[in-house]
Order: sequence, then structure tokens, then C-alpha cells
Amino acid sequence: MRVLVVGGGIGGLTAFVALRAAGADVAVFEQAEQPGKTLVGGGFHIWPNGVRALRELGLDAAARELGAPIERTEYWSWRGRPLSHWPVGDIARRLGAFDVGIGRGELLGLLFEATGASKVQTNSRLVEFEDDGRGVTARFADGREERGDVLVGADGLRSVVRSKLLGPAGPDFTGYVQWQTLADGAAGLLPDGVERITFGPGSRTVLHQVGGGRMFWACVVYGAATNGGQPAGRKAQLLRQFGDWPAPTPALIEMTPEEQIVGLPVYDRKPVKQWGRGRVTLLGDAAHPMTTNTSQGGNQAIEDGVLLGRMLGGAGAAAGDPSPVLRAYEARRIERTTPLVTNSRFISDLNAWRDPVRVRLRDALYSVVLSRRALSDQFKAVAEPL
Ligand SMILES: Cc1cc2nc3c(=O)[nH]c(=O)nc-3n(C[C@H](O)[C@H](O)[C@H](O)COP(=O)(O)OP(=O)(O)OC[C@H]3O[C@@H](n4cnc5c(N)ncnc54)[C@H](O)[C@@H]3O)c2cc1C
Repeated sequence: MRVLVVGGGIGGLTAFVALRAAGADVAVFEQAEQPGKTLVGGGFHIWPNGVRALRELGLDAAARELGAPIERTEYWSWRGRPLSHWPVGDIARRLGAFDVGIGRGELLGLLFEATGASKVQTNSRLVEFEDDGRGVTARFADGREERGDVLVGADGLRSVVRSKLLGPAGPDFTGYVQWQTLADGAAGLLPDGVERITFGPGSRTVLHQVGGGRMFWACVVYGAATNGGQPAGRKAQLLRQFGDWPAPTPALIEMTPEEQIVGLPVYDRKPVKQWGRGRVTLLGDAAHPMTTNTSQGGNQAIEDGVLLGRMLGGAGAAAGDPSPVLRAYEARRIERTTPLVTNSRFISDLNAWRDPVRVRLRDALYSVVLSRRALSDQFKAVAEPL
């Protein structure tokens, strides 16, 4: 079976490794000159579900090696009051896994290396495809054509494959921009193993170590008049907004050169009941983009890739029409990801609250809810076997 994977991000590279391990002939087509350049600079929390999926590919130990352990996720108010915490390390151990903070560049590098690089075709932007029932023909911007038995759209938030399957509607803006970077030499500013998430009026910060002495920091701002990117004065603006937040956020912003701070507007899409057709399917953000509030988007892209490999490589899929296997894969992934997309958006909308009364109410709510219901929801998300 020849599988064409469009997009060399976290999901596409994972799918490649999983499909190849399952015996398929796979090729990845990535529009960028160099895979892994997108969003480099960001940090990434791999939860036990992502770790166990990576384990199926033999990559969990290397991810642990490259990153820094996360043992405890803490929730704070911007006024310096701890609201709640999750013993994520203990939960992970009960599941036979771990939590790790890792640089996005390191995670992509690890996946890219695992592909052997030879089958990732860069400078390959898909513009069109045709499924004639016997196979799929992919057409690229430079006029090249490729033929395969299956086409997987792993082409992210503004997926061309998705637009051909489900129509041209774009993703929905959540109303927030995430300003972020990895700060060198800053790991000691938080106790080892701590991830700290702090909530303020229409704003939030996320901090955790990612290995190599670096700290990932992100400042989330709702309702900003900017679309992110790298506008001049962004560091001063962040210091104005977060300068009186609890340590170490002000110090982290202060020590980071402005050119290393990038603003990313965050989008999602309403879940759909079906996303594939014929010999074509989707995975990752092309299928189910979600807000960053449960930090599961990438973890789910990894799960997608691993499950697709397992199912397409399974008995019977190699011979004949792969469409039923693709529909079965989608049904399982839609059931799994729909509550995560919805939950992430719900939390995002709560985090947009900015007036003082609502902020106090939210703090009170989070100090109770985050230690109970949300913890059990997140536990379910990370504990469910793939
Ligand atoms: C600010 C921010 C922070 C985040 N933090 C976390 C986190 O902590 N944990 C977590 O689990 N998730 C996190 N996420 C979500 C995570 O980044 C995404 O869910 C994940 O990157 C999705 O992977 P993907 O492979 O589906 O898409 P992408 O990573 O977007 O990759 C898509 C690839 O397809 C390529 N492509 C696009 N169009 C074409 C085309 N026409 N032809 C060929 N190639 C094409 C792109 O160049 C890209 O390389 C975060 C997201 C953001 C925005």
C-alpha cells in the first residue's frame, strides 16, 4: 500500500513513522523548505497519552531524554494565590508513563530523524487531489503529480485537503494571542518538575522547563488589537501587562531578547461528525484543531498518527479498498477528540473573562473545579488507551 501524507508537522511525521512500521510504503510532502520550522520556539507538554503513543514507535525514551520532567501542574491567581494543583507525575506513573516538557523543535527533530528523512519531500505544496476510486492522485504547486492508494491530509489548521473534503470555511479565532518563547538559562527560576499556569483578567501565563536549561514561557492575551507575529515593542507591552504578576514571569520577560518573542493567534474549529471520504482522510489540526487550554492538540495529532498506522497496517487493510478502515479510524478519533475540542473551547471562554467580579468568581471556581471535575476529565483524557 502506498500512502501519501500531506504535511510534515507533528501529526504527519508521526503518521509516517507509524505507517512505515506497519509495512506501508509512505511518503510525506511538506510545503516548507525545512520541516519543523513552523512554530519552533514553542514548548510542548507531552501528557501520558502522548507518551504511550510515542512508545508504540519506540520514541518515548528519547523524548524523555530531550525534555524535562513535569511532576506537578500548579494553578495560580495573578495576585500570587495558589488555586489548585495536579500531581501529574503520580498520575502518569499509575498509567505506566510520565509527563515531559519538551521544545517543539526537539520533538519535531526527533520525529524527523525517526523518518530517516529520505522520504520527506520538502518544497512540496499540495494544491489539488483526485480520488478516482482505484487510487488518489496528488498535485503539487510545481506541477508534479504523485499517485497513492491513500491520501492523508496532515496539513494543519488551514488544510487544503480538508477544504476539498468539507468546504472552504476557515478556522475560528478564539480571541487570544499566545506570546511565547524558550528562555535560555532560565530553568532555575521555577522548582524542577513544576508547570505553573496563572490566570488573570483576560490573560494567562504558562511556564515549564523543556530541558537544556531552558524555560518555556507563554503569555496569553485575550482581545488584543494585534494578530501576533513579531511587532516592535511587544516585549515592553508584555512587561506593562505582566510586570506585576508573580515571579518569575516578569523576570522571564525581562531576560528574553525581544526578537525571540513570537505571538501566535490561536484558532479551533467546531467538531464535525465525519471528516474523510473514499481513500482520503485527515489527522491532527487539519481534522480537529483545539485551543491550547488542555495542551492536547499535538498529543492528539500523535495519537492520530499512531492509530492510523496501526489500523491501516492491520489485517486486511493492505489488500483491496482501504476506505472502510479509514472510516473506522475516523469514527474512533472523532469520538476521542470531540470532547477535548469542546472542553478546550469552554475553558478558553472562561479564561477570556476580565472584569474583577468575574475574575474572582473564576478563581473560586477553579480552586474547587480544577481539583475535582476537570482533573477527572483530564485524567480520562490522558488515561484512555489508544
Ligand atoms: C501557541 C500554541 C501552543 C501549543 N501548545 C501545545 C502543547 O503544549 N501541547 C499540545 O499537545 N499541543 C499544543 N499546541 C497544538 C499543536 O501545536 C498542534 O495541535 C499540532 O502542531 C498539530 O500538528 P499537525 O501536524 O496536525 O499540524 P502542524 O503542526 O500545523 O503541521 C502541518 C504541516 O503541514 C504543512 N502544510 C500545510 N499546508 C500544506 C500543503 N498544502 N502542502 C504541503 N504541506 C502543507 C505545514 O507547513 C506544516 O508543516 C499548541 C498550539 C499553539 C498554536
